[in-house]
Amino acid sequence: MPARLALLDSRPALSDLDGTTLEHWAETNGQPRYRARQLYSALHRRYVQSLDEVTELPVALRSALVQDYRVRTLETRVHLRSSDRSEKVLFGLADGQTVETVLIRGRNAGGTRRNTVCVSSQVGCPAGCTFCATGLSGFGRNLTGSEIADQVIYFAHQLALEGDRVTNVVYMGMGEPLLNVGAVSASVERLTDAKGINLGRRSITISTVGIVPQLRRFSEWAGQTNLAVSLHAPNDELRSRLVPYNRHFPIADLIAAVRDYTDETRRRVSFEYVLLHGVNDSMEIGRGLVALLKPFGGYAHVNLIPWNPFRDGHFVRSEGPDADAFAGLLRAGGLRATIRYSRGLDISAACGQLRERRSG
Ligand code: SF4
Repeated sequence: MPARLALLDSRPALSDLDGTTLEHWAETNGQPRYRARQLYSALHRRYVQSLDEVTELPVALRSALVQDYRVRTLETRVHLRSSDRSEKVLFGLADGQTVETVLIRGRNAGGTRRNTVCVSSQVGCPAGCTFCATGLSGFGRNLTGSEIADQVIYFAHQLALEGDRVTNVVYMGMGEPLLNVGAVSASVERLTDAKGINLGRRSITISTVGIVPQLRRFSEWAGQTNLAVSLHAPNDELRSRLVPYNRHFPIADLIAAVRDYTDETRRRVSFEYVLLHGVNDSMEIGRGLVALLKPFGGYAHVNLIPWNPFRDGHFVRSEGPDADAFAGLLRAGGLRATIRYSRGLDISAACGQLRERRSG
């Protein structure tokens, strides 16, 4: 268990408090209850980041609040904007640790705007995937539900100022969400709260390397939330080298759990596959992938992600014709496959890179 750092800011965060607690605070401070409702609405429907924005509260009340509370669980350390309009923020937590969050702007097939926030669920990551900057940096601690939800709220606030909104959330930043199920589940509840940001569960995707016991209960606690599985190799020998957790939960167990999930829910699963040149992108390995996933029929979709280089990363990115040939082989084998080039390479937008860069 990692040692907990001393709190740099010991004030509780208002975003961490539910409506009942805020009403209790109002009563004990001689305020009418509707002040609590005003504050709750400002926090969760207007996504305020500062009490200066809550102008419906008297100035004296805001000053009193600021003595006792932070507004959010996160403070912005670095905010980078890419030439492709993706953005990345390094957030500081109350104990001085840092996490990264990315906003990816795009369009749906129909042309409507799609603003996806990629959140972290842990400080660092215990999974230790060998191609991942976060995995190589070790594990700090689990995030709380509010620390996860506040990453989304930060960008919801910014987009609201632009007349836009968050449309999707993916748990694909730092951390393995299924090793922090309590907080991840709490954050999903917060993000789907009808009195708050009110996202649909189907617009949220949780990605896992395959922590099989938690995966087997996924539909119980995640409901209609989408599932993505970080596969990266079709055989145990190679996958254990890339994703060390495979030694705990080998491919046969993982695939059996995902099959039971698709049989039960009739929902499609994304399989994430980082393309590493000369490691997992050969035609032979591609045929192995087809054999492994073909039984899923239309319930499997493979996302091929050319690897993003980082300092101390010892792989070569597979892209262009190599990536096209691999995708073509999967499609010829009957799988649905898409190549997803990462956005924001000029701002180190892939998982763990900004934090790594700031610490080096
Ligand atoms: S790829 Fe994901 S699960 Fe693997 S080490 Fe990186 S953050 Fe953790």
